[in-house]
Amino acid sequence: MKKFENHILKEVFCNKCGKQIKVENGMIREGCFEVKQTFGYFSHKDGETQTWDLCEDCYDEFVHSFQIPVTSKEETELI
Ligand SMILES: [Zn+2]
Repeated sequence: MKKFENHILKEVFCNKCGKQIKVENGMIREGCFEVKQTFGYFSHKDGETQTWDLCEDCYDEFVHSFQIPVTSKEETELI
């Protein structure tokens, strides 16, 4: 969950465990899984947008629960 002041990112909390994720100068400074999902016509949430964030530990726990492992590759250029 993100909190903004005057459109500047101030705080981020993991929606699962509640941990505060490090933010400096409006930028997230540690691993964070950011979700913004708008559900379409064929879903049960037609037109609803949901947003949430996970800290890296909760992300790891989440993906380790998958029946099919995530696809992973190394990126050589990070922004
Ligand atoms: Zn967490």
